[in-house]
Amino acid sequence: AALPYIVGNWKMNGTRAMLNEARAIDRAAARFPKVQVAVAPPATLLYRTRDAVELIGVGGQDCHHKESGAFTGDISAPMLKDAGADFTLVGHSERREYHSESDADVKAKAEAALSAGLAVILCVGETESQRDAGDAEAVVGSQLEGSCPRTDGAVDKLSIAYEPVWAIGTGRVPSVEDVAAMHASIRARLVAIYGDAGADLRILYGGSVKAENAGELLAIPDVGGALVGGASLTAESFLAIVGAA
Ligand code: 13P
Repeated sequence: AALPYIVGNWKMNGTRAMLNEARAIDRAAARFPKVQVAVAPPATLLYRTRDAVELIGVGGQDCHHKESGAFTGDISAPMLKDAGADFTLVGHSERREYHSESDADVKAKAEAALSAGLAVILCVGETESQRDAGDAEAVVGSQLEGSCPRTDGAVDKLSIAYEPVWAIGTGRVPSVEDVAAMHASIRARLVAIYGDAGADLRILYGGSVKAENAGELLAIPDVGGALVGGASLTAESFLAIVGAA
């Protein structure tokens, strides 16, 4: 089986001083050869982070679906690759919400990233009202149907991150049973979309992961890693999660 994959999403946090955290994470990663570790710093720090680390993966948080052009403020997948990224997130709920990204947008971004040679972590997740209405699995299933990319042979470069919106930054985490049910449902959907290859794709859990709950979450079947926000912002709290993996 693939190694557990622990990814820190720094979101809009970090100036050059954060490179010290990246270096500390990278140095410590040598002590955890059975865990795959990566960080997604803000784009302004991508190149410097790549330069500062040796062992851990480095990725973007989003990319445009076009390679280049008149798109002020946007960053393309080939640009991320050129700055040293190994992967990019796409479809994070904060992009879907604050930048009105649709499933079709997310799919186009994922395809652009794969074309540029980047691995992709595609994020999905329901809101609290959708879960309360009993629609969580249907919502996530429809997000996957709409946003999973055509992979052209690169399906092994795709991972999914299940991040219930109501668990992000709130300290609230779904029950083990609910995570297990959702990940099984995502697995079935991936097999329906990608055939046998879908059985091997990594499905990460994200939303208020910290050292205290990481071991329990990562032991759930079909949870292949964690996408960590707040607790990835210091080497100490992030490494405590890596250590629990
Ligand atoms: P928190 O770990 O801060 O809840 O954020 C989760 C997340 O959105 C990671 O992408």
